[in-house]
Amino acid sequence: MQLIRAGAMVAVIGAALASGLLLSRAHGGGALPLPVMPAPTARDRILVVAPHCDDETLGAGGLLFSAVRAGAKIRVVIDTNGDGFHYGAERLFHEKHVSPLDYVRMGLDRQRETLAALSDLGVPRRAVSFLGYPDAGTADMWLTYWDPRHPYTSPRTLEDHSPYPTAFTRYTPYAGRSLLDDLKKIIADFKPTVIICPHPDDEHPDHWAAYCYTAAALYELGLLDSVQLRFYIIHRGNWPMPRGLHRREPLQPPADLSGPNTRWQAFPLDSRMEGVKYQAILRYGSQLLVMRDFLLGFDRTNELFGAMHWGRLPVVASGAIKIDGQAGEWGQVAPVILDSPEKRRRCGGCPRGDRRPADLCPGGSRRAPVGRCGVSDLGSCPVGITGWPASGICLPSRGKDRRRGALLKHGSGGRSADTGYRGPGRRDARSRYGAG
Ligand SMILES: [Zn+2]
Repeated sequence: MQLIRAGAMVAVIGAALASGLLLSRAHGGGALPLPVMPAPTARDRILVVAPHCDDETLGAGGLLFSAVRAGAKIRVVIDTNGDGFHYGAERLFHEKHVSPLDYVRMGLDRQRETLAALSDLGVPRRAVSFLGYPDAGTADMWLTYWDPRHPYTSPRTLEDHSPYPTAFTRYTPYAGRSLLDDLKKIIADFKPTVIICPHPDDEHPDHWAAYCYTAAALYELGLLDSVQLRFYIIHRGNWPMPRGLHRREPLQPPADLSGPNTRWQAFPLDSRMEGVKYQAILRYGSQLLVMRDFLLGFDRTNELFGAMHWGRLPVVASGAIKIDGQAGEWGQVAPVILDSPEKRRRCGGCPRGDRRPADLCPGGSRRAPVGRCGVSDLGSCPVGITGWPASGICLPSRGKDRRRGALLKHGSGGRSADTGYRGPGRRDARSRYGAG
């Protein structure tokens, strides 16, 4: 696919997937067919990206086990060690006041759980990379702390560089560019044919950020068109329901992600695969302590993987779109990129001419346009589009106003004004999902 063309920008939109067969009931109780995901083969090279220790098993444990049995090559990347989960640390250490060092100890414990779980699934230690970035910090690194010279500081460990001797890059600064570079090195070395990563509309900030880094790595490596990108979902409202162990129940996509944006496939688990996945989940003792029913809710008769395709968005001049009415009506407006030459100039390093995403500034607000009309602002360089009808990508940005998100103009009769809409901030995100 030709991605680079003046007046066009890429976004991710749904792609058709293969052969169908039904497996699940749909949201609302009706029966909907889901295509079945083909089993891995020895020719596959599968990279699984997980924001935290346990996501790889919850989202793709059965697939990993099946891939190992088929002789596929496997690599698993864990972005963070889940070292920011305050409630989990309290329970783990039986302390109300958990020290920074204890959070690091918890991160190391969670690494050991991951290695045990992956060993159950047949994945050897050498196939696992712990990047060692901060739990609950990778979205901030994407949005704000992009530059390794000005890293993010974890409020839990109080570290701004990875304290883990196991980190893929020792003493790596907590910066978006650093995580992206680690991922690029791994992808360039491993040469995956398939990458499994979180869905862009996963609500946990570390999860949607994991998607952002993965997509950006593929983009910067020029691999968007040659590597299959598949998504698993972990956090979306009260999904998955029912909670707890319901091993004979199929896992269905979250209702609000069941539209045409994401083309879901079901990967069926036979009884052996399901049993091994169950054992692997049980390795996560630290997480079972605090959210047992949530974890066991992923032990079903299938896993879910979504796909999207890269679409294009038109670029229009900033201020060219006038929208009357209420914000709630903006969902009917097709997504575009708002181009603002003035802001592009301010955002040094931003694109000129062909507006290639790689030329955009680092960082980027994928969340800015969420739930609105999906208008992004090229001037401040967020390229993430998550509104209708596209679902997300992220791209690079920098500049003081990057957190303002889409600078939507609305009004009538030629008058216009910034909406001042802001994407969800740190406080919002953390209040809902403390950490991994
Ligand atoms: Zn997670």
